[in-house]
Formats: sequence, C-alpha cells, structure tokens
Amino acid sequence: MKIVVAGAGIIGVTTAYELVERGHQVTLLDSRSGAGLETSFANGGQLSASEVAPWAGPEVPWLVLRWLGRADAPFRLKLRADPEQWLWLLRFLTRCRASARAERVLPNLSLALLSRARMDEIAEKFDNDPLEFDEKRAGILQLFHHAASLKAASSGIARMSDAGLEQKVLTARECVELEPALGAAFASGAILGGIYCESDRSGDAHKYASQLADRAQRLGVAFVTGAEVTGFDTQGDQIKGVHTRAWTFDADAVVLAAGVGTPRLAKMAGARIPVYPLKGYSLTLPIDGDVLAPNVSMTDEARKIVVSRLGDRLRVAGTAEVSGYDAEIEMRRARSVLDATIGLLPQMKSAENGVEYWSGLRPMSSDGSPILGQAGRYRNLFLNTGHGSLGWTLASGSASVLADLIDGGMPRINLTPFDIRRFSFI
Ligand SMILES: Cc1cc2nc3c(=O)[nH]c(=O)nc-3n(C[C@H](O)[C@H](O)[C@H](O)COP(=O)(O)OP(=O)(O)OC[C@H]3O[C@@H](n4cnc5c(N)ncnc54)[C@H](O)[C@@H]3O)c2cc1C
Repeated sequence: MKIVVAGAGIIGVTTAYELVERGHQVTLLDSRSGAGLETSFANGGQLSASEVAPWAGPEVPWLVLRWLGRADAPFRLKLRADPEQWLWLLRFLTRCRASARAERVLPNLSLALLSRARMDEIAEKFDNDPLEFDEKRAGILQLFHHAASLKAASSGIARMSDAGLEQKVLTARECVELEPALGAAFASGAILGGIYCESDRSGDAHKYASQLADRAQRLGVAFVTGAEVTGFDTQGDQIKGVHTRAWTFDADAVVLAAGVGTPRLAKMAGARIPVYPLKGYSLTLPIDGDVLAPNVSMTDEARKIVVSRLGDRLRVAGTAEVSGYDAEIEMRRARSVLDATIGLLPQMKSAENGVEYWSGLRPMSSDGSPILGQAGRYRNLFLNTGHGSLGWTLASGSASVLADLIDGGMPRINLTPFDIRRFSFI
C-alpha cells in the first residue's frame, strides 16, 4: 500500500519505520526541516512505564485554584476565547475522578511495556550499527516529600506488579544510596522516601527520532521535509491524496501523527479529536566532570519536575499550562524549572550559566491515553496522536500496533481503550 504519514516527531517516525518494515511504500511528511524538531525535541527523556497514570485526577481542580494567579505555578490555566480550549477543559474536568484515572492505568501500561519490548527488538536489528541516543537503563526513582503522597502512590504498586511492572518503596536513606547525587537533599531532610522502578529507562527522543528516520529512509521511506500538509483529496469513503503546498501525494492510507497539529488536520478530514496543547518547559544543563550529577532518572513529585541524565547533559522538564498554541519561552516559568532543579540538586547551580531553555506543546488527550486507530468517515484515515506527557514512552508500541492494524494483522495488545469512539459521550 502507498501510505502517507503526516508528522515526523517521535510518533510519526516510529510509525513510518513500522510500516516500511511491513513492506509498505511510505511517504513521511513534515513541515519542519528534519525529524523530531517540535515537541519531541527536548522532552524530559523518561521512558517511564511506571508513570502512566493520566494527569487528570481529583486533586487537579484544587491545585489549579490554589495556584491561580501564580506565574511560576507548576500547573497554569490561561483561558482564551477559544471553544476548542473550553470543550477540551470540560472533557478534562469530567476525568478528574479517581476511578477515571484508574481506568486508564493498565491500558497505558500495556502500551508502555510493548514500547519497551519493541525498542529492544529494533535495537537488536541494528546490533551492528546501534542507534545512539544517550540511553540509560538505570531505572526511574519517584521522590516524595509528604507521607500522604507516598502512601497514595504506593497503593498502586501491587496492581502494576500483577500487570508485569515491578517497583519497590525505598526509605530516604535507600534513595540516597541508590542515587548519591541526592546527598544534599537527603541531608536537609527534604526527601521522605521514594518508589523505584528498576526496569524503566531514559534517553534522548530527538536523537532517537532523527536516527530512526535515517534508518527508515534506508529501508525506502520517502521523507519529505518542508512539506506542510494542507488538505486531502477524497472519493467516497476514501482519502486518495494528501496535499502539501507544492505537491500532492497519492495515498491508499493516511496516518495523522502531527502532534498538536493533528486536530486541525483531522478536522480537514472530517474528524474531531479531543487533543489540546499542554505547554511545558525543559532545560538542559552541561555536566562538569567534577559535579556529582544523577545517573538514575528521577521524578520529584512535590517540585513537579523530571530529571534525566543524557550523556554529559542533564535534562530537567516540568510545568503544564493550558494556554493555547503559543510555544514562546516565558523566562519566569522557565526559571521556575531551574529553581526546582537547584532545590533538589544544589550542586547543579554551578552549571547555571550553560543552561539551554526550551518549551514544547504536549499533544494531550483529555483522558490521558493516546488515540490510535481509524477515525472519521474515511475508512483509510488513521490516527496516532494524543500521547500528552507520554509520547516518548509510548511511541514504539503505538506505532507497532497501528501498523499491525493498517496491515490487517492482529495488534499485539487490545486497541479498544485507545479507539476514538471512547469519547462519544460528549
Ligand atoms: C516539557 C515536556 C517534557 C516531556 N517529557 C516527557 C518524558 O519524559 N517522557 C515522555 O514519554 N514524554 C515526554 N513528553 C511528551 C512527548 O515529548 C510528546 O508526547 C511527544 O514528543 C509527542 O510526539 P509527536 O510526534 O506526537 O509530536 P511532535 O514531536 O510535535 O511531532 C509532530 C510533528 O508534526 C509536524 N506537523 C504538524 N503539523 C503538520 C502539518 N500540517 N504538516 C506537516 N507536518 C506537520 C510538526 O512539525 C512535528 O514535527 C514531554 C513533553 C514536554 C513538552
């Protein structure tokens, strides 16, 4: 089949790779000059099967109210005169229930574990010429400052273990034994304990996307950059072609994997999807040889940051903002991530002068799970989007199950929880 994939972030690239591996004639289109240059560019780096719970939860409305008006709030809401934003917020609010959150954990986990397995299978194929993406297999440690949050998080461990993911609760001393870079935080009494998932990993999503795009091209994918998708040719219940400003590409099937650009493209093809940008910030710090920087990837639950070691750099990401499509860096908010980093790892202050700030827009579905599968009235239109804060973690699994579905094979996990039709209640 001739298949056009719109968007070459981590989701589109992995999809194009899976499809070409199954023998399809794949064209990958992106409006930017290369792969992984938007939201997949400088994310938190975590491949975190242990942290797949949706962000929508009972505590969220109260936190937003408490933080209202604070420029450095970890979660910020900037209301706009935009019906798309209001509708998304309404849907998101209906998901701020413990039962709604719990309902999504096991499906997301199954996709995360499949992603991990699929990354391993792909790595084996490139054994002679490995993908170099600063991968670390040192686990992810969630840090807690309050007994109540540690207790609440620990209550989910048995369920995750039954589904194949082992985690253990650590005392503050065990946390610092595992990760000596936490010495100062431990000494100040700031850490109460942690939950450690040894099998989790971290790595640079942009490096992975750009290198996998090269490998996919070697297998035959036509990767066209500077190609903004502007519309579709349709006939009956089929899409027949994909327009960019300069060309039209024939298509037997089309995959929309354009991150926060997907809702607009889907709308052009007659499908509405509840995906909206959730802006976040990251910073990348150089690691000086003398500084004790962490090796274990970490999530600080109170400071709302994630930390990943990427070779000789430290990546820290945080904050969430529902404020539209503007990805401009607002220095006060970017600085708040740096302040949180130095609060947890005071030794990183010496790297402050070399910091690189970045902001990106998470393509967030209102219920915290991606949308995978056929959508809308065109039978050959497929979606791979809405991965929110988990796009790097879920990319390889999402791509492989979607490729199975398009190929007419049996996806390796049940895709019902990811079907667009789950949103039909609003
Ligand atoms: C601060 C931050 C920290 C994060 N940390 C983590 C983490 O630690 N772990 C994790 O798993 N996830 C993390 N994420 C989430 C993850 O980065 C995203 O879910 C993922 O990058 C989304 O990938 P994507 O391919 O869907 O979108 P993108 O990477 O944005 O790719 C979409 C592509 O589509 C292209 N495009 C858009 N419209 C069009 C069009 N009309 N025509 C052609 N091309 C188009 C864009 O140019 C872009 O290249 C984080 C995100 C942020 C912002």
